[in-house]
Amino acid sequence: MSHLTEEVEEAKITVNEFVNGTKKLYIESYGCQMNFADSEVVASILRNNGYSTTSDVVEADLILLNTCAIRDNAEQRVRNRLSILNSNKRRNPSLKIGVLGCMAERLKTQFLEEEKMVDLVVGPDAYRDLPNLLQEVDEGHKAVNVFLSREETYADITPIRLDSNGVSAFISIMRGCNNMCSFCVVPFTRGRERSRDAHSVVKEARELFEQGYREVTLLGQNVDSYNWKNGEESFNFAQLLEAVALISPDLRIRFSTSHPKDITDEVLYTMKKYDNICNYIHLPAQSGSSRILELMNRTYDREWYLGKIDRIREIIGEDCGISHDLIAGFCTETEEDHRDTLTLMDYVKFDYGYMFFYSERPGTPAAKKLEDDVPEEDKKRRLNEIIAKQQEHSLLRNQLAVGKVYRILIEGESKRSPEDLCGRNDQNKMVVFPRKHYRKGEYVNVLVTSCSTATLKGEIVD
Ligand code: SAM
Ligand code: SF4
Repeated sequence: MSHLTEEVEEAKITVNEFVNGTKKLYIESYGCQMNFADSEVVASILRNNGYSTTSDVVEADLILLNTCAIRDNAEQRVRNRLSILNSNKRRNPSLKIGVLGCMAERLKTQFLEEEKMVDLVVGPDAYRDLPNLLQEVDEGHKAVNVFLSREETYADITPIRLDSNGVSAFISIMRGCNNMCSFCVVPFTRGRERSRDAHSVVKEARELFEQGYREVTLLGQNVDSYNWKNGEESFNFAQLLEAVALISPDLRIRFSTSHPKDITDEVLYTMKKYDNICNYIHLPAQSGSSRILELMNRTYDREWYLGKIDRIREIIGEDCGISHDLIAGFCTETEEDHRDTLTLMDYVKFDYGYMFFYSERPGTPAAKKLEDDVPEEDKKRRLNEIIAKQQEHSLLRNQLAVGKVYRILIEGESKRSPEDLCGRNDQNKMVVFPRKHYRKGEYVNVLVTSCSTATLKGEIVD
């Protein structure tokens, strides 16, 4: 299954660049695609300061962990990882270790007290300051910058693509979030929402296309509230989508994440108008119970959410791919609320989803005002019921694809067999097929012949 902004289980690490005479930078990135995109900005800033990247932690002069704070287990993973990395410091006393991203922002200087071997703590809006901060560290000090900006979008920095297949790339179009979902730490760790210069987004997408990339994913916590203004000129999200779609019909456009309160008909009609804007929407629901949605401060209710689903299917069609995020066991959730979530899933029949049990985050409105009162075993059981239902629906939706022909952008070899290639269809479903003489970056038409819950299998039809 392919992931967009949602957290990816494995950490992503930098690749080997083999540049002589440079210091070696190893970045390990956790969490969402926004974080991976940020690591590419960090690599670019540090390249201009004499670093090239490595995938080998042992040869690194500087180790950076780009962290996630969205749930407690994400933070625990980072702490475990730091204690393992400590041994490298014993071997190489000049090694520097820094913590970037949301956990750095959340814990600030507390990090330096808790994790003694960390030299550097840098929040998501302070990456331009890294060269100065490293200088301070070289002079024997600990360095911290967790200043959150109202303007920083890193618009002028060309990211260095890390761990890329050379076919698809991510472009950050905005930063921060102005919503205050009561469970969520993001507004505190990533600051106020700001949109990036639309021309710089289009330029980055065009350059990627010219370098051979064939798919870009526009990233933001809430892409539908994208709104960039410069004097008389302004772009909303639909207009930005259109501008990127016009670069070339051979450049596919995806985006994530959409918020049910903000996705507009204009966006849906723009998707319909351009074949190269993929028919796939990640539309987090969080819960199927209107009472819980209100406590979550999501600003929509069950009916509104289902109304948006109907609208998507009306305008784009029944086979538009739709995925969700759902949280099991939020404060005060009853069995009835949980059943509302299951029936919402039954109504929509999502193609897939990202499912979590509620993890209280210090400082959030929910942590301050509500009691985390659903017992852990209930949270986990409800989560398992949600996952089981999603598995059923994923299979059902995939079965609908069997017998149909889809245009696939080849992303590379299948993980299971070098004889096979894989790529995604418009609806974001991964399809595996025998390679014949085709190569990654090419488009092929594939007849789907069978499926599992996670993948479609097929054959190229010329
Ligand atoms: N901005 C996006 C949105 O509004 O849907 C997603 C932000 S967040 C990085 C990704 C997902 O993590 C959320 O949609 C939510 O389901 C989940 N999440 C956020 N805070 C959580 C918490 N405290 N406990 C469990 N899951 C959480
Ligand atoms: Fe968090 Fe809500 Fe913003 Fe998404 S929209 S990042 S869940 S506050």
